[in-house]
Amino acid sequence: AGAHAPAYLQSLNPAQREAVEYGVGGADGGTAAGPLLVIAGAGSGKTNTLAHRVAHLIAKGADPGRILLLTFSRRAADEMGRRVQRILARAAADHPWLAQAGLQWSGTFHAVGARLLREYAGRIGLDPAFTIHDREDSADLMNLARHEAGLSNRDKRFPLKGTCLAIYSAAVNTRAPLLQVLQSAFPWCGEWEAELKTLFRAYVQAKQTQQVLDYDDLLLYWAHMVADPALAAEVGGRFQHVLVDEYQDTNALQADILLGMKPDGRGLTVVGDDAQSIYAFRGATVRNILDFPARFEPPAHRVTLERNYRSTQPILAAANAVIAQAAERYSKELWSDRESAAKPQLVSVRDEADQAAFVVQRVLARREAGVKLKQQAVLFRAASHSARLEMELTRRNIPFVKFGGLKFLEAAHVKDVLALLRWAENLRDRVSGFRVVQLLAGIGPKTAGKILDNVCQAPAGCSLLAEQPVPETVQADWREFAAVVEQLRREGAPWPAGFELACRWYEGQMPRLYDDAQVRQGDIQQLARIAATYPSRQRFLTELTLDPPSATSDEAGVPMKDEDYLILSTMHSAKGQEWNAVSVLNTVDGCIPSDIATRHASEIEEERRLLYVAMTRARDSLELVVPQRFYVTQQTGLGDKHLYAGRSRFISNRMLANFEQVTWPEPPPELKGTPDSRQAALDLAARMRGMWE
Ligand code: ATP
Ligand code: MG
Repeated sequence: AGAHAPAYLQSLNPAQREAVEYGVGGADGGTAAGPLLVIAGAGSGKTNTLAHRVAHLIAKGADPGRILLLTFSRRAADEMGRRVQRILARAAADHPWLAQAGLQWSGTFHAVGARLLREYAGRIGLDPAFTIHDREDSADLMNLARHEAGLSNRDKRFPLKGTCLAIYSAAVNTRAPLLQVLQSAFPWCGEWEAELKTLFRAYVQAKQTQQVLDYDDLLLYWAHMVADPALAAEVGGRFQHVLVDEYQDTNALQADILLGMKPDGRGLTVVGDDAQSIYAFRGATVRNILDFPARFEPPAHRVTLERNYRSTQPILAAANAVIAQAAERYSKELWSDRESAAKPQLVSVRDEADQAAFVVQRVLARREAGVKLKQQAVLFRAASHSARLEMELTRRNIPFVKFGGLKFLEAAHVKDVLALLRWAENLRDRVSGFRVVQLLAGIGPKTAGKILDNVCQAPAGCSLLAEQPVPETVQADWREFAAVVEQLRREGAPWPAGFELACRWYEGQMPRLYDDAQVRQGDIQQLARIAATYPSRQRFLTELTLDPPSATSDEAGVPMKDEDYLILSTMHSAKGQEWNAVSVLNTVDGCIPSDIATRHASEIEEERRLLYVAMTRARDSLELVVPQRFYVTQQTGLGDKHLYAGRSRFISNRMLANFEQVTWPEPPPELKGTPDSRQAALDLAARMRGMWE
């Protein structure tokens, strides 16, 4: 093939090319190719290779509408779409039509699941108008079920709603029996197996009656759908090619979905890196990728990539040293030919305040030197670790975006409006309804419960809404409210006009609900602006529930597209990305590894891979910051105190040679002096003491 490769593949190395071209050919882009696994280290071009493969398939005649690309985040899907487009633009020199071709099916498992279920709902017994609950709504519904089953009152030790949901979710995603899930991940809840089963039956029943789906259902119903051979053939047959990035972080349920759709693995491509598996705590299993080849007969074709194109050699050496200590280690030795004299830095600072000041100073210095803010990222283990830095950035007016932290859509007031929208969409959705109805002055939980009961019995009748038996004093307000909901529900209501009306109504309620209503109103206006960019209410709701935009520094919300801003991200959310410069905060024991993840050796191993993921995001410069002291607020009422921190155990003494060690701010120059001046100092001290003799 070599010399005859099309121009748009010429930048690839031979192993990458093999992965791109494997089984592609024939008039329709190749239908017969068996399963393909690309397993390779960080920055070796897995994602890039996948994008080229998609483009190549299209260039060779595959129907773009029959290619399904599954990524870990919506951002990753968007980025991949852009890459494919760029490659196709190059390929279009020969075939001009390619410039127009683009992917139609790409996104997260959850987003694609939502879209498919919407279409096939009727076939599997779901109402196509189902609404999707986010985690908080799901926890609320779980709580309702918990109360109704009398489990919360019977024993105070019964797990809280969040734990119940986590257990439920773990069982669903790992497809493991409840008892096993309890024993391995929630040992302190082991005694509640029977009660939890009762609770989960009630929870599932409530979801069904109300026609709401939680996140897990998007996968569960999809898996259920493709477990039926006829439907599996139909749904799987829609896609000639299914390609998955970051396969090491998929769970058992997702593997079942893929296998259900492509039982013989034909047209299936997965790529990933076992050394970067960091989602076991959410039910992902690295076994998916390790066992992939053997799940097929003949086994999947396997390609490994060993050349890293991202990082300079010293950065890669340091990252390799971290992962080399891993207890379990499977693949490859990564190398890079990007020589550099600059080792990554290990920076010792006094405390978190200094850490923030240091990072800001470095970020600005690099910007002076021509590295855009967007090309720099600050990574941390827990969303709260950046609080200090966020304050400093805000104070100094440096724009930033945060990924993986508290989301804009998790703010109570934004949730109110979304609940209103969701309830208008599906009046049976009790969690949303309960929240919304009580926004009115004079309506408490009891009246709300009655209203919801009435409405559920005749969900179609909206006129019914205006006639609900509400207290005398509330009646006028209620009618106004009912009109807003009606406007939203109206068949073919123009979008987003009805929503704007709803926002205005809600803004009217806000001064009563919040002390800082004015600030929050800015968010609601921001939400209305975002809404206007979606074609319909349903698309808006689905995408916002699945992939909320991040909270941002400035009041106005999401920065403009061409504005420059610094990236703040949790290590988890940094997956798959790269920046010229990366700073890692709090490289200390207790933060990484997190002290909430040191119960099992396996958890510590996952933390190690997490640090590896963080370090391998850097292209040219990497610094790990180590504050020496932490101030903690004591719960005991003894006041604040500070703790001394130690460098992360993942950077052992032996590895220090991989780093340049820096102390910041620089320590004051040592008291230098000639013997004479030292003597003079002693004399002076003696004289001063002498005054008191
Ligand atoms: P991760 O494990 O972090 O997800 P990855 O294996 O997916 O990494 P990519 O993000 O695809 O790696 O690629 C890393 C960088 O290397 C990108 O900037 C990409 O453009 C570049 N790259 C990949 N392959 C080549 C190549 N053949 N020639 C030049 N640059 C390449
Ligand atoms: Mg990648």
